[in-house]
Amino acid sequence: MKEREINTVIKGIAAAPGIVIAKAYIYAKEKEEVSNEAITDIDEALNNLEVALEQSKKELKKIFSLAVDKLGEKRAAIFEAQMMILDDPILVSTLKKRIQNEMKMPEFVVDSEISKYTHLMSLADEAYMKERSHDIEDIKHRIIRNLKKKKWRSRIANDVIVVTTNLSPSDTVLFSRVNVKGYVTDFGGLTSHAAILARSLNIPAVVGLHNAMSKIHEDDELIIDGYKGVVVINPDEKHLKEYLKKIDKLHNYDEELNKLKDLPAETRDGRIIQLEANLDLTEELEYLVHNCAQGIGLVRTEQLFQQSEAFPDEEEQFLAYKEIADKVYPNYVTIRTFDIGGDKVLPVDLKEPNPFLGWRGIRLLLDSTDLFKTQIRAILRASSHKNVRLMIPMVTSLEEVRETHKLIDECKKELHKEGKQFDKHMQVGLMIEIPSAAAMAKEFAEESDFLSIGTNDLIQYTLAVDRGNEIVSKLYQEFHPAIVRFIHHVITEGKKVGKRVSLCGEMGADPFAVPLLVGLGLESLSASASILPHIKKVIRSISYDETKELGEKCLKLKTEKEINAEMHAFYNRKMQDQIKNLY
Ligand code: PEP
Ligand code: MG
Repeated sequence: MKEREINTVIKGIAAAPGIVIAKAYIYAKEKEEVSNEAITDIDEALNNLEVALEQSKKELKKIFSLAVDKLGEKRAAIFEAQMMILDDPILVSTLKKRIQNEMKMPEFVVDSEISKYTHLMSLADEAYMKERSHDIEDIKHRIIRNLKKKKWRSRIANDVIVVTTNLSPSDTVLFSRVNVKGYVTDFGGLTSHAAILARSLNIPAVVGLHNAMSKIHEDDELIIDGYKGVVVINPDEKHLKEYLKKIDKLHNYDEELNKLKDLPAETRDGRIIQLEANLDLTEELEYLVHNCAQGIGLVRTEQLFQQSEAFPDEEEQFLAYKEIADKVYPNYVTIRTFDIGGDKVLPVDLKEPNPFLGWRGIRLLLDSTDLFKTQIRAILRASSHKNVRLMIPMVTSLEEVRETHKLIDECKKELHKEGKQFDKHMQVGLMIEIPSAAAMAKEFAEESDFLSIGTNDLIQYTLAVDRGNEIVSKLYQEFHPAIVRFIHHVITEGKKVGKRVSLCGEMGADPFAVPLLVGLGLESLSASASILPHIKKVIRSISYDETKELGEKCLKLKTEKEINAEMHAFYNRKMQDQIKNLY
């Protein structure tokens, strides 16, 4: 028997925000024993299979309607997809044929047949496919359980934290019915449906811990911190006190943030900052619309279609973009064309020695004009209500901008000929994320409708630090003087020629950086929807005049350390009674 942990802290991925303290409920999915005994009565076996498939469908229907109530149609669609698998004629006929030919128990055939799919999917490189393999696994267990005529173990106590190896979307929804306080899992990432659902259901979650199941016992007291991805097992007095205080603060703070919902992100001296959201997954759309976003400043289209095997065709893209544009109307949505390459998957199996300096973003698009034009046409068609902007990633030279404009004009002519609706004046802008573009901000602004600073890559390329490499992560500095000066330069030059300058990198989601960005003249930023209420609070706590002084001071400082210290001191002064240490 494993020993109980005392005051042990384990770390995973912060998948859904919030802090809770509650008892652990270990949800060890029973591994159903599968017998490969031979059968004698084929008809009976086939009948059992049909009954089990029907029962599984019934259960999923129930979960589906519960999910529609709790999450809305769109996100409940995962369960509809699971029901469709149960109706797949090829799968069902293969199962039947194998029972007839091999004369094996239906549970054995179901296990072996569906495991073929899950095995293949789990070998895939893309996180999405790996995650989906868990959904299929979930269906397999459901059918086997029904073949054995067992019931789902849903009778658990209220107010517990569910600890398990991996949550399926259906577990997540069903547990939410019994007032589960939080989720802790050994596997799963940020993009897992369970994580997305936990966020939508507002249930704090820490996933990908690897050792939670081996360290946590039933009824252990747990603290989970869904902001930092931390779990404390059987906390001591000190930890408990600290977290109780945080929960109290959070509670008050949430109420305060709620009061700001309908107020603008306006500094004390009346400067309005436009807050937009970044969109990576369509599932976030509803949440984002309700979380103070005044539009979408960045749609990462390559993420949106990550699950598709081939590049989505024009119609598929058009429908996806139109859905977003309709949802945020009359606000704007900024659709970035595919930023493939770098650390994002390429359409062909190409091994580049330096992928970040290779065939990425606009370079790849201009070399693949069919692919690029398909996307441009889809974006143009989605722009018919005049609330769509198109944005180009990874731009290094004006030639790339001009070539893109040429292709856009070609697409407009084609669509016009075909009698298709689109916004003739759709704005076309650029990501400023490469030093050459930042240095030439004036010229780039003159030849486009807007600029958006991508600090994630701008830092990577300016400081020559791989954004995903742990070894050099200390050198990845948003407050490096060169970065601060570049941002100031881009904002100033853009404004000189009357163009809108926004920022959509992670720096905009850093509450410590926001006063500096405002002080440098930024009037619009786009960040992950969940952080926007907090950013609004920061903006409403500062005055533009004092941030301007702060900006001027930081522009003269020569080291990252000095600027960093300046920003932290400023933030702590302004946000004194607020939520300093939670994020
Ligand atoms: C950026 O580089 O700052 C950015 C927003 O784009 P991505 O993170 O998708 O590269
Ligand atoms: Mg980028």
